[in-house]
Amino acid sequence: MSKLVIVLGDQLNKNISSLSDFNKESDQVLMAEIYQEAKYANHHKKKIAFLFSAMRHFNNELLEDEFPVYYHCYQNDDSISFESLIKELISFNKNINQLVITKPGEYRLVEEFKDISSRLKISLDIRQDNRFLSTENEFFNWASNRKELRMEFFYREMRKKYDVLMDKDHPIGGKWNYDSENRKFPSKKQDFPNVFKISSDPVTMDVLSLVEQEFPEHFGSLDNFHFATTRSEALLILDDFIENRLDNFGDFQDAMVENEPWMFHSHISFYLNSGLLLPLECIQKAEKAYFEKKCSLNSVEGFIRQILGWREYIRGIYWLKMPDYKNLNYLIAKRALPSFFWSGDTKLNCLHHCIDETYQNAYAHHIQRLMVLGNFLLLCGVNPDEVNHWYLSVYADAYEWVEMPNVTGMILYADGGVVASKPYASGGSYINKMSNYCSNCSYQVNEKNGDSACPFNYLFWDFLARNKDKLESNNRISMMYRTYEKMSDDKKKLITEDAKKFLNSL
Ligand SMILES: Cc1cc2nc3c(=O)[nH]c(=O)nc-3n(C[C@H](O)[C@H](O)[C@H](O)COP(=O)(O)OP(=O)(O)OC[C@H]3O[C@@H](n4cnc5c(N)ncnc54)[C@H](O)[C@@H]3O)c2cc1C
Ligand code: SF4
Repeated sequence: MSKLVIVLGDQLNKNISSLSDFNKESDQVLMAEIYQEAKYANHHKKKIAFLFSAMRHFNNELLEDEFPVYYHCYQNDDSISFESLIKELISFNKNINQLVITKPGEYRLVEEFKDISSRLKISLDIRQDNRFLSTENEFFNWASNRKELRMEFFYREMRKKYDVLMDKDHPIGGKWNYDSENRKFPSKKQDFPNVFKISSDPVTMDVLSLVEQEFPEHFGSLDNFHFATTRSEALLILDDFIENRLDNFGDFQDAMVENEPWMFHSHISFYLNSGLLLPLECIQKAEKAYFEKKCSLNSVEGFIRQILGWREYIRGIYWLKMPDYKNLNYLIAKRALPSFFWSGDTKLNCLHHCIDETYQNAYAHHIQRLMVLGNFLLLCGVNPDEVNHWYLSVYADAYEWVEMPNVTGMILYADGGVVASKPYASGGSYINKMSNYCSNCSYQVNEKNGDSACPFNYLFWDFLARNKDKLESNNRISMMYRTYEKMSDDKKKLITEDAKKFLNSL
C-alpha cells in the first residue's frame, strides 16, 4: 500500500514532516498550482510568480532526487482542484490508501483536506509542521492560565529552550531586550546597501510570462523581479544580510527613508514562510556573527527576537484563536478600505510611498506596515475583513497564519488586546520622528487642525473619542484620555469636524 503526499506551495523543504518516511518505490508526491488558490485573493503578481517559480524549482529538485512527483502546472480552469487531482491519482494508482500532508498554514485548508478525505473515503495523516520552533501544544500550554499573552515572556522561554544568546540561565549582556537602542534615524550621510538581486533563470522567465498573461488584473508590478526561488539562492540572501546589513539592523529597525524600501532589513520572510529557509539556521547565523564580534548585540538580539519571538508567537496565537479569530471586530470598525490602497494615489506622502513600494516590490518593512499603513487603517476605522484581504494580497510573504494576527491583533486591535496591550495608534509626530516623509508632504505635520494639517493628527484624537467606551480603562492609554478631556470644547469640535470631513472624502 502507498501514500500520496501533498506538498503545498509554502512547504518547499525536503525535511518537511510529510516527506520524512517517504518510500520512493511506492509513494507519490502531489504538487499543484491551483486556480482557486491563486485567484481567491487579489494576490500581488510578484507573490504568484515567486511561489510558482519556487514550486517548480522544488519539483525539479525532488525529481533529481528520484522522488516520483505529479506536478500540476497552472491552468485557467476552476474545475481543477486538489480534490479532483487527488481523485484522479487515486483512480490511477489503486495502491494509494492514505493522504499525508504537513499541516497547512491556513485553517480553511486544514478543513478542506479533512473534507476531501471524508468525501473520497481515504485516510488522512496531518503532520505537525516541523519548520517551526515551537509546537502548537507547547504554545497552548504556555498560554493556558495566563491572563495576558505577551510576546516578551514567550520569547524568553524560547531563548532558554534553544539556548540562544544565553549565558547559562541569564541573557547575554544582562538584558533580554535591547529595543530602547533600536530607534535611531539614519543621518543624511548614511549609505544603504543595495538589495541583493537574483537573476531570473528560464524557469522563472516562463512563470513571469504566465503571470503576466493569466493575472493581468491582479495588483502589483512584475518589473525587476529579483527574488530567490531556490533554497541555495535564499541562503545567499541570508548570508548577504548577515554580512552587510545585520550590524545596522537594530539601530535603524524602526526608521523609514523615502525611496529606500529595503533599508537594513533581512528580506527573508518570503523564504522562511515558503520553507526555503529554516528559522533556526537564520538565528544561529546571526548569533555566530555576534560571537565573532562582527555585529552588535542590540542588532543581533533584535533580529533574533523577530524570528524566535514574534514569528513563533504570532503563529501560536493564530492556532490558539482560530476559527473565531477571523470574525473579531472589537472596535466595530465598518469603513470600506480606501480605494487608493490599490493605487497609491493619495496626497499623504507617507502612505503614497508605502503603497507604491508595496506595489513595486510586494514588500514593505515592518514599521511601514505597522505605523503608516496600519496606523492609518486603525484611525480610520476600516473593517478588519477588508484590511486582512489587502494585507494577504499585497505582500509576497503573506499567509493567513502570519498575516491575520498581525492585522486583526497588532494593527486593528480587533481582538480586544490579545496581541497588543494597547492600540498602535499615533499622530503624525511619530512618522515625522522615524521618517523623512513629512518634509515632502502637502500636509503640515506640525499643524493640528484645518485643511493643511496632517490628517493623522486629528484622526488620532477622533479615534480615541470614538472608541472611548472600549479603550478608556486601558492603563496604557488612559493618560491620552486625560489630555483629551483637558481640551476645550471648541478644540474637540474642530477635531471631530476635520476628521468627519477627511473620512467622508475617502
Ligand atoms: C500589519 C502587518 C502585517 C504583516 N503581515 C506579514 C505577513 O503576511 N507575513 C510575514 O511574514 N510577516 C508579516 N508581518 C511582519 C513583518 O512586517 C514582516 O515579517 C517583515 O516586514 C518581513 O520583512 P523582513 O524579512 O525584511 O523582516 P525583518 O525585519 O528582517 O525581520 C526578520 C524576520 O522576523 C520575522 N518577523 C518580524 N516581525 C514579525 C511579525 N510581527 N510577525 C511574524 N514574523 C515576524 C519575519 O519572518 C522576518 O523575516 C506583518 C506585520 C504587520 C504590522
Ligand atoms: S505630514 Fe502627515 S500625512 Fe504627510 S507624510 Fe507626514 S505623517 Fe504622513
